[in-house]
Amino acid sequence: MERPLVVQKFGGSSVANADRIRRVARRIARERAAGSDLVVVVSAMGDTTDELLSLAHGITDEPDARELDMLLATGEHQSATLVSMALHALHVDAISLTGPQAGITTDGRFGRARIANVEPRRIRAELERGNVVIVAGFQGQSASAGAELSEITTLGRGGSDTTAVALAAALKADRCQVFTDVKGIYTADPRLVPTARQLPVIGYEEMLELAHQGAQVMQVRAVELGWVNDVVIEVLSSFEDAPGTLIREDPLVEQRNKVRGLAHDRNVAKVTLVAVPDRPGVARTVFDPLAEAGINVDMIVQNVGHGGTTDMSFTVPRAELGRAKKVLDPVVRELGAREVTTDASVAKVSIVGAGLHNAPGYAARMFGTLADAGVNIEMISTSEVRITCMIAEDELATALAALHGAFELARPDAVDAAAAGGLAAG
Ligand code: ADP
Ligand code: ASP
Ligand code: MG
Repeated sequence: MERPLVVQKFGGSSVANADRIRRVARRIARERAAGSDLVVVVSAMGDTTDELLSLAHGITDEPDARELDMLLATGEHQSATLVSMALHALHVDAISLTGPQAGITTDGRFGRARIANVEPRRIRAELERGNVVIVAGFQGQSASAGAELSEITTLGRGGSDTTAVALAAALKADRCQVFTDVKGIYTADPRLVPTARQLPVIGYEEMLELAHQGAQVMQVRAVELGWVNDVVIEVLSSFEDAPGTLIREDPLVEQRNKVRGLAHDRNVAKVTLVAVPDRPGVARTVFDPLAEAGINVDMIVQNVGHGGTTDMSFTVPRAELGRAKKVLDPVVRELGAREVTTDASVAKVSIVGAGLHNAPGYAARMFGTLADAGVNIEMISTSEVRITCMIAEDELATALAALHGAFELARPDAVDAAAAGGLAAG
């Protein structure tokens, strides 16, 4: 009988130090002993990626994108070799591979490359030899320019999730398990909302929207790849044996017809162009150069004009605010606008649910809840499956708690406890 093939991914906190690496190795050894072929994707240890980034920024404000990817890729090289050594110590045959050795090719966009192809010949050969294959996550090799110009690329923050799902799809793995520092996917970030409830199952569409809106537990691209290739992704704890969450096609999604979860995002900043002339072509003059610079613009609000001018506000990723300002300064002069103002102490909070679009009243409930909690809404945007409000960052915890309660997302025991408290008080 064919041996089942399992892809497992361990995130940065799961391999943060020698003890944890040994613990991960024991878990892998157990799965191996149970008779599975194993491909294991690892992230860099702990905060290594952040530390490498700050090393680079200690040298220069604008590190060369190619060199930065060469540097960042070393984080995952480290952890892959160490996990392999830890398996050797347990007498389990294992070999570590870089992303390129694992056959992962990408486009050429440094820092946010997309996987173009996976050719897992080497992985298959190593499995054939009886090795557990440890693959450095978050990286690949650009292919478009031809072999002699091929470069190491990285897949964007959280990209090891995508490595794992891409490998599971290419290898037609029987299981794809993503081990992390929480037990699964919750109705909100369990670190911010203590009453958050773990979901046994979440559909691709809802998970994709949560990821888009800031739930960093899965990288957006990993969910997309899972959806397109029909990979069921199990998210589970690397610290305890507990049932996780399945990300998969959810046939019940239309019947649920309500808010499935909240997401929040602090990586956002608001830009306002004050008193821009109110005439055709202005939006293009503003947004073309931002697009050219590769800066994602998200929520956009243009106020009603008065006296021939109008204010225009939009959001950009907080990390891009400096670059956005540089791009916009000459635009403001060209347009004869008054000034650009920025605010980096904002955050987005979203309600997500695939049933939102055919059930009215959710927007009103969201706005009413935030108003009752004394939270001011600065901008609003919506899609078929979500409503997002931009608020002050220091009101994020208040907003999440109020919305989590209003949309009845809490764990039943948390609700019972609150009700019992209410009765006792009443
Ligand atoms: P890893 O290093 O394993 O890749 P990440 O830090 O990238 O882990 O993602 C896990 C974190 O995602 C959790 O610690 C949690 O704070 C956060 N998170 C945000 N939203 C959610 C959610 N809805 N469910 C579970 N975790 C979430
Ligand atoms: N180490 C990379 C990061 O910190 C990739 C990952 O963890 O998935 O973003
Ligand atoms: Mg991650």
